[in-house]
Formats: sequence, structure tokens, C-alpha cells
Amino acid sequence: MPSSTAVVFGCTGQDGSLLSRALLEQGFHVVGVSRSSSPNLSTHRALGIAGEVELEAADICDFRAVLELLQRHDPIEIYNLAAQSSVGLSFQQPAKTCESIVTGTVNLLEVARFAEFRGQMFFAGSSEIFGDTQGPADLTSMRDPVSPYAVAKDASLNIVRVYRDAYKLRCVTGILFNHESPYRPATFVTRKIVDGAMRCSKWKSTRLHLGDLSIARDWGWAEDYIEAIQLITRADQLVDQVVCTGRMVTLEYFVDRVFKALSLKWRDYVVQDKSFCRPSDIRCSVGNPEPMARRLGWRAEHTVDQVIDRLVEQALLDEAIGSVK
Ligand code: NDP
Repeated sequence: MPSSTAVVFGCTGQDGSLLSRALLEQGFHVVGVSRSSSPNLSTHRALGIAGEVELEAADICDFRAVLELLQRHDPIEIYNLAAQSSVGLSFQQPAKTCESIVTGTVNLLEVARFAEFRGQMFFAGSSEIFGDTQGPADLTSMRDPVSPYAVAKDASLNIVRVYRDAYKLRCVTGILFNHESPYRPATFVTRKIVDGAMRCSKWKSTRLHLGDLSIARDWGWAEDYIEAIQLITRADQLVDQVVCTGRMVTLEYFVDRVFKALSLKWRDYVVQDKSFCRPSDIRCSVGNPEPMARRLGWRAEHTVDQVIDRLVEQALLDEAIGSVK
């Protein structure tokens, strides 16, 4: 019997790669969409799925390309994870960020409406839409986006709801709080901290330059969030959900735990550097995990301490493998 097909936009990123692996394990035929005809498959290789995902090159903003792709593959599930996903970079590339998130989302929804798509569609939202959270945020909380990225994610949340209500498309948004894995690009602060601490443990004269360490975030483990994404997508009644752990810690806490795991004192190595601060930043961001737990029975399995420990463990393992090679 032919297997069901799922299409993953943004298949080469952290979440796209982990989701593709999960879908393959569930027996799906996975079609992964990248902007490039020769995409960077380093994460697929690390996860052992290189060659198992059918790759397609398409721009999510191109109506005809997306339509042809959906007609050719006839998926039952579509996941839109494609985005310029860095908040910091969105201040330098606001138009590109908004195009990838807002135009991409509208285009995909419009293709689905035109093609009378009857499967389920997931859209990756972001906790950045809340700005500073006044207590654990859920769908009823005030939204106060303070970056071009957050503004775009806020608009995409709204437009997905409009298509669900107005056209009865089975589309839904997961409002994702930060989630980490060893597959985060080095431009993200968590990865920068782990890589930087590893360098400090090797070369004692190394210094790690970071921005404001007092900001606090709700950090989870990416694989837990992949499970949540699928539960949200496959629910009988589609309801936008906040995906979070419910606990926030400061960046200083994160840094301290990473350096301690390597038997170092972070104050000996970290330089606080104003040039790494954003034009506007969120001080505190934490989500309310209860609605998701009540409705879909999901809770994050990993605590932030486990997230940090696993990131350091993997970095040490990678280094050990590298030194053997
Ligand atoms: P990544 O940045 O790792 O992956 C996103 C993918 O989108 C990239 O692999 C890239 O694929 C594609 N992409 C990049 N820039 C553009 C662009 N300008 N236009 C179209 N596609 C682009 O993100 P994650 O996997 O971490 O996140 C997945 C989704 O979840 C994103 O939408 C992100 O905004 C959202 N999210 C993630 C959070 C996190 O903590 N990880 C938190 C909240 C939301 P290619 O180059 O192959 O085209």
C-alpha cells in the first residue's frame, strides 16, 4: 500500500529535519521543500535521514510552484516551518523576514484554498508575538510584538485563523517558545554559548562576547516540540496552541550551567558587549503549558537543565569524535 505523503516547508532547518525524521519513522513519504536545488543537508546527515526525504526546490511565495508541488504529491499533511527565523537578523532584513513569513503563509493558504486541499496544515508561530510576558502567556494574553520577526509571526497567526474560519481550511498555528537542539545554527545565542564555552575550555585566553544576560526565556527541547507540532496538526478540532515548558530562566543561568558543566567559571571568560544588544528586546518570556496539557495531553518532557546538559554532552561527544577522526 502506498504510504501517505507529508510536505515539509523548511525541511533543512532544525525543526524541519527533526520533523522529517519523525514522519519517516511513522511511515510517511516525506517531501521536503527548500529554496535551494542543492540544499544544505548537514542536519539530515547528522540525523541519518539524508536521501530518505524527497527534496523539492521551491519558493514558498511562488503560487504556481507551490500549486504544482501540491498537485504532484497530493499530501495529507503540510507543515510550514520555512522562515527567516532569527529575531536579531529581522532588524537588518525586515522586508525579507516579513516576505518569508507573511507572504509565504498567505501564498500557501491561498494555494490550498484554490486547490481545495482537505488535509491538515501546520504553521510555525512564535512566542515573540507576546513581547514581554506579564505572567505565563497563553492565547488570551495580550500580544505586543517588538521586532519585525514578531510582527510577521503575529500577522501569520491571524491570517491562518482567517482561512480556518472563513474557508474552513484545516490549518492551525503552534505558537512555539524557544526550543533547542544540537542542530541550531551557530547564529543563535544558545549554540553560540555552548560552542564558545567549548572553545574557552580548550584555549584559556578565549573570551565569549554576549549581549544582555539578564533577559529570561522559556527554553525547551526541540524533539519534545516536534511531538507537540504533530499533536496540534492531527487534533480533531484544530485550535491554535502555545507550546512551552512553563519555566523561564535568565541567559546568565544558561551561561552559568554550560560553563559549570565544563568545570569553568563563566565570569572568567564572558564579556558583556552592548553591541550584541538588539534595538528592542524582550526581557521576560514564559508560556502557560496548561491549555495544551488539558486539550492534547502534552507536556514538555525535558526541563531547561536537561536541555543545557544535553547540548553540552553532544558538544563534548562531537569534539571527541572530531579528535579521533
Ligand atoms: P531554521 O532557521 O533552522 O529553519 C528554517 C528553514 O526555513 C531553513 O532551513 C531554510 O530552509 C528556510 N528559510 C530560511 N530563510 C528563508 C526565507 N527567507 N524564505 C523562505 N525560507 C527560508 O528554523 P527552526 O527549524 O528553528 O524553526 C522552524 C520554524 O519555527 C520557523 O518558522 C521559526 O520561525 C519557528 N520558531 C522556531 C523557534 C525555535 O526556537 N527554534 C521558536 C519559535 C518559532 P532552506 O534554506 O533550505 O530554504
